[in-house]
Amino acid sequence: MTEPDAAASGPQPSTRKISILGCTGSIGTQTLDVVARFPERLEVVALAGGRNVDLLIRQAREFRPSLVSVAAPEEVERVRRELADPAIRVVSGLEGLGEVASVPADLLIGALVGSLGLEPVVSALQAGNDVALANKEVLVTAGPLVLDQASRSGAKLRPLDSEHVAIAQCLAGHPLEAVRRIWLTASGGPFRQASPAEMAQATPEQALAHPNWDMGPKITIDSATLMNKAFEVIEARWLFDLSPERIGVIVHPESIIHSLVEFSDGSWLSQLGTPDMRIPIAYTLGLPERLPLPDLPPLDLVALGALHFEAPDPKRFPALRLVEEVLHLGGTAPALLNAANEVAVQAFLQGELPFPGIAQAAEAVLEREPILPGLELDEVRDADLRGRRAAHDWIRECNP
Ligand code: MG
Repeated sequence: MTEPDAAASGPQPSTRKISILGCTGSIGTQTLDVVARFPERLEVVALAGGRNVDLLIRQAREFRPSLVSVAAPEEVERVRRELADPAIRVVSGLEGLGEVASVPADLLIGALVGSLGLEPVVSALQAGNDVALANKEVLVTAGPLVLDQASRSGAKLRPLDSEHVAIAQCLAGHPLEAVRRIWLTASGGPFRQASPAEMAQATPEQALAHPNWDMGPKITIDSATLMNKAFEVIEARWLFDLSPERIGVIVHPESIIHSLVEFSDGSWLSQLGTPDMRIPIAYTLGLPERLPLPDLPPLDLVALGALHFEAPDPKRFPALRLVEEVLHLGGTAPALLNAANEVAVQAFLQGELPFPGIAQAAEAVLEREPILPGLELDEVRDADLRGRRAAHDWIRECNP
């Protein structure tokens, strides 16, 4: 008869402290959307935003973190003044990203864009903070270094990419030896059915119109070239310790099956859901429990009627060929590919490069730049700089 309530409900889970790098971007705002639903379970301790300072201020007012970082140092005073809260420390720049990453937290959401996220993620792991990684360029450029850092500090690295969260759910409780292959699904992007001639004429507006997912501009262009899927292969290679031959890509235009695992006995497991990043975000924030999201539109398989699958086309989407090449080359090759791609995507968005030029720039940089075997932080940084410089040079040569 003693303590019936406690016995019925069990021990109450404690509040989980969350920090976010990239809080004003697509993943950042969707993470805060989930956090706001569970004020007893989730607490924001640090936020790093970019150039959207007004949104960052609104977020800081709502979630009251103890630390806020803004990109530009000249904005620090304004943020301090508008927050008018001595309990919130305001920092800036690359140093600020490192501080947000290292504040003691149960989970850091790594949602910056590009290789900019590498050093703060390494800082977080060094500080012993678990990291959920949406910023796939971090693993693309420096997978072995990041894993090594995690194993040294004992911090956990979790995926925060819909495909990899799906794979993690399917793999749970199974030995890796029982896995024949994993299959990453790809929507195929806006040019899935486009001819090479149409792709040569594609505008940034067309490339930014993703059929299923609402994401930031860099990842949306990467989805149109399938470079995003190529990077996800590298991401999976490190996250799940699978050789590249055991990672397949299959086009699935509806984006309902988020990925699949094929086991050695011929069984397959997959994870399904509506294409809404709040679902994998809530899974990651709630682990090992499921956080309910009752107001999200339910998956209606009958209304969908059918799901479709196609083989990807490496001729129109050379990113799929380039990923095999860089995984085979190893060392700094993936960092070069990533750097060239970041520069080429920007050039395409600014009208300086046609759509097929993005993959061509990456290919040219891989041909021109020496590939070094080492993967220390300064070697990755150096490859990143060289890759960017070589990509700028190549683009200039195309626009004499
Ligand atoms: Mg993805």
